[in-house]
Amino acid sequence: MESTLFTNVRILEGNTNASPFLGSVLVEGNRIKRVSRSGGSVSGGAATVIDAAGATLMPGMCEAHTHFSWNDAATLSAIQTMPLEEHVLWCAKVAKRYLEAGFTSCVGAACAKPRLDVVIRNAINSGQIPGPRYLAASQEITVPGGLGDETLPHLPFPEFSFGVNVNSADEMRKAVRMFLKYGVDSIKLNLSGDNFTPDSPAETTWMSDAEVAAAMDEVRVRGKRGTAHARSAASVKQALRHGIDVIYHASFTDEETLDMLEAAKSRVFVAPGIAILYAMLHEAEAYGITHEKAVAMGYQIEWDAAVESLRAMHKRGVRILFGGDYGFAFTPHCQNARDLEFFVKYLGFTPAEAIRCATVYGGEIMMRGHELGQVKEGYLADLLLVDGDPLANISILRDPKRILAVMKDGVFAKSPDMEAEREMRWAA
Ligand SMILES: [Zn+2]
Repeated sequence: MESTLFTNVRILEGNTNASPFLGSVLVEGNRIKRVSRSGGSVSGGAATVIDAAGATLMPGMCEAHTHFSWNDAATLSAIQTMPLEEHVLWCAKVAKRYLEAGFTSCVGAACAKPRLDVVIRNAINSGQIPGPRYLAASQEITVPGGLGDETLPHLPFPEFSFGVNVNSADEMRKAVRMFLKYGVDSIKLNLSGDNFTPDSPAETTWMSDAEVAAAMDEVRVRGKRGTAHARSAASVKQALRHGIDVIYHASFTDEETLDMLEAAKSRVFVAPGIAILYAMLHEAEAYGITHEKAVAMGYQIEWDAAVESLRAMHKRGVRILFGGDYGFAFTPHCQNARDLEFFVKYLGFTPAEAIRCATVYGGEIMMRGHELGQVKEGYLADLLLVDGDPLANISILRDPKRILAVMKDGVFAKSPDMEAEREMRWAA
């Protein structure tokens, strides 16, 4: 059995209760065999020894709202119309980049063509391509005129639509069954609109209860999970009423919504993906969206509402996870850890709480909280070696140069170059 011994590491377990400590970690096979504090002896046996020179060892991060198939374009149709062959290769390349950037787990939150997520997940699991642990999503399911319906009146073909359009409970059932047949881990429903699409803005709620109920009925039959694009308060409540576990965005809330979220907090995850709101307001001018235009599209109102909602949810102990909607021109892939900075800067999280969102909660949303998301004996060896202290400067988690090594399932996806690292430290 392959084993790796990390010595002289500052161990950040991922749990907010414990402070980091200096010690060693022994990985045997794909699990963490031993964690010991400095002074304690860890016998490595035939292990490869990595002297980390005081670098931080922390759990691999989980991205809770991932779209491998978004191709860094500025419009939904530019994502959708990428030919299938190129699109598969694109997803494979992005999956590898995520893993090397420190995301050892990703929760798919919709893909642009029916089987993209499933095929990539299967290729990762069978070892054909490198990538994070991955939960595969369906395409977005929407209703005519809602977010994701990109068909034109004279081109009503499903291939032109970003999401799958359904127009009744029966059509919903048909679409959901198709995705379940393909092997998705979750079904994504677009319950609310989005300010990105002016004809279906964020505070509108589109799907009928009968349609959502039909979808969740099928999801339960197969033991899978429902997820929702839900920006409006009504859509968040609808998601909760129907037993949807993963709520994306949740920008607008009222007291009733917050009470319902709190009551369901042991079951529900909220992944807001707030970077896109910020980017639309402040960083999208190169793509024709000036600050004034973004304000007119409703992004300032939504940003303010989201900050208030998420602060309230955080106080009530609702699990808020990081990541989301990277893969647009304004929020390119692999900058995802920027969300952690936003959580600290705008949402009132401590850096340790932000890291818990990416690690402990990550294990939980992957449905493997008992063995994933912490540096803990017996847990799966998904680990990052980070140059510096993320608790002092959380932005280092999105600097590829500071992610010295990435281990997934006991195997290095990015190997440490400790020689180079030591030279760098001396030179500094
Ligand atoms: Zn999304």
